[in-house]
Amino acid sequence: MSDDPTIFEQIVAGDIPARIVYETDTVAAFLDANPLAPGHTLVVPKEPHERLEDIPDDEAAAVWAAVQELVPQIAAAVDADATTVGVNDGEAAGQEVPHAHVHIVPRFEGDGGGPIHAAAGDRPDLSEDELDGIAADISGE
Ligand code: AMP
Repeated sequence: MSDDPTIFEQIVAGDIPARIVYETDTVAAFLDANPLAPGHTLVVPKEPHERLEDIPDDEAAAVWAAVQELVPQIAAAVDADATTVGVNDGEAAGQEVPHAHVHIVPRFEGDGGGPIHAAAGDRPDLSEDELDGIAADISGE
């Protein structure tokens, strides 16, 4: 990982402009500069943790609390019908900025978008044994 400050660190530091809509000691949220919808907002821990697993528990809890608070505020502000909340966690998932962030994307009836199920590629055809094995690997049992 580069030692250069991420673009989101620079926003948090006030070194580059952003439309900040929420701020605490540990969390900031600002409008996405290239929005997928009106009100598209990014919620970040102020510390530049790259991946979800890198965020300490207390900061992660603060990020999620911000998401929960912001979702209805944003939806009301742009008169959205629904919201998609998501994280691109890692380059293969589309993460471009190496500073963990949660996307809050307001959704509208007939907006032409899809559900989060559309984010991955073709669905794998997994046997019951394969599913059992994956579950065991995840749970460590
Ligand atoms: P991701 O692909 O999940 O890393 O998303 C990065 C997001 O950051 C994209 O939606 C960009 O539009 C957004 N973005 C990049 N630079 C800025 C910026 N200076 N201010 C606000 N949003 C930005």
